[in-house]
Amino acid sequence: MGDLEVIHFYYEVIMKNYIIPIFIPHYGCQNQCVFCNQHKITAMQTDVTAEFINETINRHLSGINKERHIEVAFYGGSFTALNIKKQIELLTPAYHFLKNDKIHAIRISTRPDCISKTILDNLLKYGVSIIELGVQSLDNQVLAASQRGHNKESVFTAVQCIRQTNLKLGIQLMPGLPKDNLLQMMNTVYQTLKLKPDFVRIYPTLVLVNTKLATLFYEKQYVPLDLDTAVKYCAIMKLLFERNHIPVIRVGLQATEALDNHEVVIAGPYHSAFGEMVDMYLFNIMISQFFEGLNIKGKEVIIHHHVKDTSKVRGMKNTNTNTWYRTFQLQNILFKQDSMKIGQIEVECNGEQYILNLNIISNI
Ligand code: SF4
Repeated sequence: MGDLEVIHFYYEVIMKNYIIPIFIPHYGCQNQCVFCNQHKITAMQTDVTAEFINETINRHLSGINKERHIEVAFYGGSFTALNIKKQIELLTPAYHFLKNDKIHAIRISTRPDCISKTILDNLLKYGVSIIELGVQSLDNQVLAASQRGHNKESVFTAVQCIRQTNLKLGIQLMPGLPKDNLLQMMNTVYQTLKLKPDFVRIYPTLVLVNTKLATLFYEKQYVPLDLDTAVKYCAIMKLLFERNHIPVIRVGLQATEALDNHEVVIAGPYHSAFGEMVDMYLFNIMISQFFEGLNIKGKEVIIHHHVKDTSKVRGMKNTNTNTWYRTFQLQNILFKQDSMKIGQIEVECNGEQYILNLNIISNI
């Protein structure tokens, strides 16, 4: 299923990709997962037809005035749980644009228990090249408590089936579901690593209005992760994936008007800059650990970093910087934007230079 990533794909640009999102809220869903409310989040009321898709793609294309890698992405439902006729109806207009080189890829997201060779053959026939599985957890107790309607074995079978094709595979995980805990989350990460997906997205669980999770929350039967804990857990997850060369292309949902509304997000670790907070946390841990091994009291240090990492290294409102001043009694910390890679920094101190990488933090 498309799950909650639907939100952040509103006109999202990843690298130089331009995503044309086609929201199909709850299309194909055979059950109601406790955390999900796609209608509220997508604010999508229109019936999705071939004509609607055609118009949507054309509208986006007319607004793109430079070379981009353009993808059409179907989100918010269980694409492959739709009957084949409806899948073909939805894919045909996108495939038409693909064949005419107007777009460059088609991606769909779906549930793990709606994958078969016949379904995959059909997706390939209509030009789909990326499939995202809403896995959420690889703990059967967590999946049952979330009323996902499938177990972890369905995930393994689906992945095996997908791996026999040349489809790119993405896996979406949701730490903090009912009955989840740190041990189970880490277990999910280790099992996901074995599946070797091409990329991962991590969305900490939020309590959305008009969901069973909201009822459980009000009845005090479900306690969401608090923001600090969610940042820490997601940081650990991200680190484990990236250390194993699996890119984490998104952590936390992109801020939208719907999510900023407390009547929509009732509780849970929502922050408009959640992904940045995770990276700030990781930079703080990495640099603090490094400073601990040096004699730098009363000294000046210079931190070189990539321009895109500026706020992540310094921390929100300079929280990381202030922590280092306080903890290590530094005389001065200078920041320099230069040609470092993203996630990499060079520290100059005591007349020496040291290169540090986010994905080699040793102790978190
Ligand atoms: S399968 Fe569950 S999570 Fe996915 S869109 Fe349907 S209700 Fe939401």
